[in-house]
Amino acid sequence: MRALLLSLLAASQLASGAATVYGQINRQEVEWALSIACAVLDDTYDCPSRVPVALAAEMDGYWGLYYSGTDIVWINEKLVGPHWDTFAKQVLIHELAHYIVDVNEPGTSKCDSEAAARRAGNAYAASNNRGDLTDYHWQERYKCE
Ligand SMILES: [Zn+2]
Repeated sequence: MRALLLSLLAASQLASGAATVYGQINRQEVEWALSIACAVLDDTYDCPSRVPVALAAEMDGYWGLYYSGTDIVWINEKLVGPHWDTFAKQVLIHELAHYIVDVNEPGTSKCDSEAAARRAGNAYAASNNRGDLTDYHWQERYKCE
């Protein structure tokens, strides 16, 4: 419940403009990341016809966020520029996977959506020899067991 409240607080801060938005992630990069997430999840979800906008913003304690029903994924501005690496790309792929789930099946449970996002992010990290970035044990933290 605490995590949920923190998410809602972050959402209202972003919506009210309290958090600084630094800019937009390059559209080709978002299209590329969406194609990766779509390829991993294509046994379960259709690839959306629309590519969401990815905004780099000041985000307190989150690397990435996605709010159901929107066409925006939020990426921590600390990841952009010189820090745009495999971890940063994994975060973008993860959030885009949440978007894919939301477009296909609005109202999907938090746990099912997170499972898809982890699957996409883990597959990307593993295929880039970054097993250290994979996480197959998130269920307990997310109270999804
Ligand atoms: Zn997630």
